Amino acid sequence: MLLAANWKLNKTGREAVHFLNNYAQALPPSDVPTVLLAPFTALPALCDAFEGTKLPRAQLSYGAQNFYFEESGAFTGEVSADMLLEHGCTHVIVGHSERRAIFGESDELLGKKVVRAVEKGLVPIFCIGETLTEREAGQLESVLTRQLDRGLSRLTNEQFLKIVIAYEPVWAIGTGVVATPEQAEAAHQFVRTRLKAMIGESANKLSILYGGSVTPANAYSLMSQPNIDGALVGGASLKVDSLMALHTECVRAAKEKQ
Ligand code: PEP
Repeated sequence: MLLAANWKLNKTGREAVHFLNNYAQALPPSDVPTVLLAPFTALPALCDAFEGTKLPRAQLSYGAQNFYFEESGAFTGEVSADMLLEHGCTHVIVGHSERRAIFGESDELLGKKVVRAVEKGLVPIFCIGETLTEREAGQLESVLTRQLDRGLSRLTNEQFLKIVIAYEPVWAIGTGVVATPEQAEAAHQFVRTRLKAMIGESANKLSILYGGSVTPANAYSLMSQPNIDGALVGGASLKVDSLMALHTECVRAAKEKQ
């Protein structure tokens, strides 16, 4: 079970450090790690502050929300994997629906990012999910298949086991309209089956997170589904109390699944 906080375009370095200190102080030891996915500009401050938390990275770590697959060169405005590693990142989101829809990131581009992240030792949290129009047109499975095939086809079987997948129905992101546990589990089951077709039974070891209007009130019923292995959370991750309450629910669901 993994709890990933996508802060999107929120929090200065100072705000991020304030959050980190309060969260780290309140975080009980558990088997459910938390990853804070911060804006680029907050990473140096998080890197400095992290030294003081004394928490092992296995319990609390941080990363970025995007990067570019090239090492260096004429790519104005972009940030490389090495630049994230320099600031202590362990994870990076790849292919969030906002990157796909607002910034036009293609399946092919995302495939290059996923493989480069793994090569560099960053864990990519690879996001997939359908729009409402696609769901209503009966295209859920074809959309997920396309995103998985094009996004992950460059990975070797060994590299595959170093990624995290996040199923995030676009209609549920930031809308307050959460997928029902049954809808989410059905999609996760489909994703798991597709991953098994790609790499065999070891796909059972892959973490598939659910994202889309997760709150402390609905987290347990989602996280206790057999194929849901954690949450990627936007809005409800911005306040320490709320993220801590989410962590408590994830721990409860994880214990039940043991
Ligand atoms: C997200 O940004 O990945 C997300 C799931 O946002 P929210 O939790 O606000 O729906």
